[in-house]
Amino acid sequence: MREKVPAGGSVRDVVLRARTAPPGIAHGHPWVWREAVAKGLEGARAGEVVQVVAGDGTPVGRGLVDPSSPIAVRLWTRGRSPLDAALWEKRAQSAVALRARLFHSGDTDAYRVVHGEGDRMPGFVVDRYGPVAVVRTDGDAATARVADLVRALAPALGAATIVHRTSAKGETPQLVTLHGDAPPASIVVREHGMPFVVDLARGQKTGAFLDQRENRRRVREMARGRRVLNLFSYAGGFSMSAALGGATHVTSVDVAAAAHATAQASFRAAGLDTSAHAFVTADAFAFLDGARGRRETWDLVVSDPPSFAPNEKAVPRALSAYRKLHAACAAVLAPGGTFCAASCSSHVGAEPFLSTLDDAALGRDDLRLLALHGPGPDHPTLPAFPEGRYLKFAVLS
Ligand code: SAH
Repeated sequence: MREKVPAGGSVRDVVLRARTAPPGIAHGHPWVWREAVAKGLEGARAGEVVQVVAGDGTPVGRGLVDPSSPIAVRLWTRGRSPLDAALWEKRAQSAVALRARLFHSGDTDAYRVVHGEGDRMPGFVVDRYGPVAVVRTDGDAATARVADLVRALAPALGAATIVHRTSAKGETPQLVTLHGDAPPASIVVREHGMPFVVDLARGQKTGAFLDQRENRRRVREMARGRRVLNLFSYAGGFSMSAALGGATHVTSVDVAAAAHATAQASFRAAGLDTSAHAFVTADAFAFLDGARGRRETWDLVVSDPPSFAPNEKAVPRALSAYRKLHAACAAVLAPGGTFCAASCSSHVGAEPFLSTLDDAALGRDDLRLLALHGPGPDHPTLPAFPEGRYLKFAVLS
């Protein structure tokens, strides 16, 4: 499976239709769309290193090809710079070194080690849960090269276990052990000192939503003495943060009963009394309707739904879903309360998202936008790659 790249690099040319590189790519965007390619994809194998060349013959960069994907090449280098074992190692070491700096205090042992395009290792995501590193690959090219990733990453990371989480659409994800011993089904990690049960085998993404870590900390800091409603609570990260931050009562709402079981295990690991809080298995919209009917209100409302926009075409529908959700949240927010509204839809930009939180959308005119946050710094992005900035976390009060 491993592509041997001769030193000096005699690799296949993929030639662009345009005479010169498109502006995005020239500025560092790593994606070459298949429709932008004139020739060179025929006979290429997914994961092969290719040299992208502009129509006028100027070398653009090297990357891994996926001839069957709309994103034909994900670029790793510029010009004719080689994509070889030394580069894999350099990128892996740089990714690990950044996290070593970010998490040196040791009170967080669950974080993203490799954030794909943002770490200039496009197509690869690696999350660390204590001694276990979980790899996810996006597309056939990255999947074909996962052994190269492990070879480069294992020495730098020093993780006991590296697993590949493969998931075909709609199927139960599989964990394939690539390095070390098979991992346990679930593991207790720490986030800013807060214990957290991660269901490695059945959890979403690689097990948890590490991108919200700093926002969970913010909720913890805002929760003292307040009644908190956490919608789409999943494994209860925001709920536990609120409870540990001194919330008087936390209501967690999720359609998935299994998520509440994990959340309650985390509450217990943190020494919190689950019976002092509510875990409601319900559709969030229906729950909000019911609460409004009962005239129930909360001082702090957190809403972190799954992506509403799987593609560009779905954006108008997603915006109206956000508007409906946010209006329903505003209706149960007590006067003087705080509303944290998140969106993980990469197709919904920051300004369009904020338009679903304005006075007209919320039906009230007493809220100000205090901050608009993104993910933590273990989820870096490239300035020229706006697709990477998918997470928005608006705080209104
Ligand atoms: N806030 C979480 C991540 C949320 S993921 C965290 O910080 O970890 C989205 C969650 O929404 C999933 O657990 C899913 O079960 C739940 N969900 C999806 N649709 C829902 C709906 N209509 N009502 C309630 N929960 C829903």
